[in-house]
Order: sequence, then C-alpha cells, then structure tokens
Amino acid sequence: MNVSWSILFAAVLVLTVALKLWLSARQMRFVLRNAGAVPAQFAATIGLADHQRAAAYTIAKQRLGMAETALGALVFVGLTWGGGLQWLADALPGRTGSGFFFDLAFVAGAGALLALLDLPLEWIRSFRVEARFGFNRMSQAMFFADALKSALVGCALGLPVVAVVLLLMRAGGPAWWLAAWLFWSVFSLLLGVAYPWLIAPLFNRFTPLVEGPLYSRIGALLARTGFRSNGVYTMDGSRRSSHGNAYFTGLGAAKRIVFYDTLVARLGAEEIEAVLAHELGHFRLHHVAKRIGSGLAASLAWLALLGWLQTQAWFAPSLGVVLAPGLPANGLLLVLFALVMPMFSFVLAPLRSALSRKHEFEADAFAAQHASAQSLVQALVKLYQDNAATLTPDPLHSAFYDSHPPASIRIDRLLARAHAASA
Ligand SMILES: [Zn+2]
Repeated sequence: MNVSWSILFAAVLVLTVALKLWLSARQMRFVLRNAGAVPAQFAATIGLADHQRAAAYTIAKQRLGMAETALGALVFVGLTWGGGLQWLADALPGRTGSGFFFDLAFVAGAGALLALLDLPLEWIRSFRVEARFGFNRMSQAMFFADALKSALVGCALGLPVVAVVLLLMRAGGPAWWLAAWLFWSVFSLLLGVAYPWLIAPLFNRFTPLVEGPLYSRIGALLARTGFRSNGVYTMDGSRRSSHGNAYFTGLGAAKRIVFYDTLVARLGAEEIEAVLAHELGHFRLHHVAKRIGSGLAASLAWLALLGWLQTQAWFAPSLGVVLAPGLPANGLLLVLFALVMPMFSFVLAPLRSALSRKHEFEADAFAAQHASAQSLVQALVKLYQDNAATLTPDPLHSAFYDSHPPASIRIDRLLARAHAASA
C-alpha cells in the first residue's frame, strides 16, 4: 500500500524543515556571538555600528526565513494530505471537462495559488525587513505593479511550456521525458538569449556604459579580455532598493555585464574596473556555460524520474490525492513533483554552493591578474558595508546557502594575491 510512502514523504518533510530551522538558529547564534567586535581584517575599514547593523539585518532576514520555512511546510501539508489539491481536482472537471484542459487548468490553478500565498511574505520582506534597514525604495503601487507584471510574464512563458510538456506526456511513448527534455533545453537556451533584452527591460532601464573617463579606463580591460565593449550596462536598481550589485547575464551575442547604478555611484573608477574584471572572469572562464550544462544535466535526471513516477500508481494517493476515474493525471503529477522535489534536493544545496564558490574564487583570481586585487578588496568591503552583509556567517549555514565565499576567506585570498603581486 501507499502508507509506507506517505510515511517516507512525511519523514523527509519533517527532516528538511528541522534542518532548515536548525541552520537558521545556528546562523543567528553565530552572528550574535560575533557582533561584539569587528573581525580583525575589517577593523580598519568597518565601524562597530555598521558591524552590528549587519548582525541585526542578518537576524531579521533569518527570522523571516524561518517563518517562510514553517509556512511552506503548512502549505505543503494543506495542499496534499489536507485536501487542497483534492478540492481542486474535484472542482475543476465541471468547468474544464476531463481532457487536456483539466491537466492544464490544474497546473495553472495550483501555480496561481502558490504565487498568491507567496505574496504576503514578499510584502513583509520589502516593507518590513528591507524598509526597517533603509534598503527598500519601492512604493506599494510599484510592488503590486511588479507582482502583476511577474504574473503576466509567468503566464506568457509558463503556460505554453507546461502545455507542451503535458501534450508530450499525453502522447506518451516510453521516452516522452526525453522529448520533453529536448524541448526544455531549447526553450531555456532561447530564454537565456532573450532574457536580457526581452524580459529584464520590463522591470528596469538598462543604459550602455557611455564614453567618458570611466569608459576609457575600462576600454583597455575589455579589449585585452576579448569582450565586446557594448556589452556593459548600468541598471537603475536604485528604483527598488539601495543594495548594490553587479552580475553577468545572457548568452552568445546577447551576453551582458550589468552594474547597478547604486554600485557605480559608490565605487571609484579603479574599484569598478576591478569588479568588472571579476565579472569578465566569469565570462572568460566559461562559468555561464558550465552552469547551463550542469542545469541541463540535472533537468534530464529530474525528467527521467518524472517519467518513472508517471508509471507508479502509488505516488499521488500516498500524497493524499485520488482522481475520479477517467481524469488525466499528468497535471497532478507535475504539481506534486514540483512540491516534493525541493524537499529531497535540499541536501544537494552544499554541492551547488561549493561549485558556485569555486567559480567566485576563480573569477577573483582572474580579476587579480587583469586588474588590482587591492581595489577589488576595497570594492568588496564597501559592498559588504553598504549591503549590511554579515562578515561572520556560520560556516555550516554558509555551506548550504551562500553562492559566494564568506567575506574573510575571500578577502584573505585576494590580499595574499595582492602581496604576491607587489613582492
Ligand atoms: Zn562573481
């Protein structure tokens, strides 16, 4: 029977929630314990008040994260064994019939419900946590306009993709998931090309870096690292938040390096050059291609698993949903899979973070080679300070969640390179 599977799913849910709450508690304890003094490496540049503001901000974010974890578990139980999805499955056929549109409406309905439940948490994040520390610059109107835009983009992109996958599942065959994977691979590559000029501009204004002192300073850097000079943009991040950042996006000819305007305003020319060199490192060292490659490999594994689950009659009943005879089960399968998989894959988070941190170290080394390591250190310290990023993360929490190396380790390595270069 499916009781043993129910017990397994319940056990994994409890373990995942316990692990996440424990990691958050560790992070809060560790940050609090180290809030009394600025770490030695930063003592000359970051004041105690800023250090303690970072600690308070980290703890506020952890509290929200813990509430999110607990609510997420409640929503999961409510949708599965609590009867939420069963209700949807019973209510829909009267409107959609019992064919393909039932499947599609099931996925759309569950997706809309999850997005709606997420909205209050996002509101609290912006208008309670971020606002309390002076980071939020969004008005209420802008917040809801963004939510509406995201929902429309989600529908425009998500519904056709789900429809194609559902049609492939319906067509069946022993390897429908292989066809679905090919479709998904092509779609995500096209999205990677289209994202910077089709979707990102819906939310922000992007301006190519124009001729001027800064432009001529970094022109040589771009030339010797082989990057098209019109691929560097500034973005009006200050419309929503005073957090500063820089990132690499897009594929092929559409690839871009994006600086937040907040970062450009805060850093000196030499520091911007060093940050740019770091981002160019990601490009030159093929980190984007590697990330896409491992993402596609992972989606092949997930889809193969989905293909197997489609043949397993115990799966949906063990999660508390039984469809009326004659109803197609593909939409339900997709929704349950999307709910269950993150619980199982959370244990892989340290692997993802470790790979990302390896890339960050490599990009730092590249930056130290092509620009000034000392300037990159100065830029990072300013960013840690402005973003109220903790300098003293709990090592275990960091191993699960942080895509970037802890501040002190990253700075130490860069300083070692700077000293090696000047010796
Ligand atoms: Zn990086």
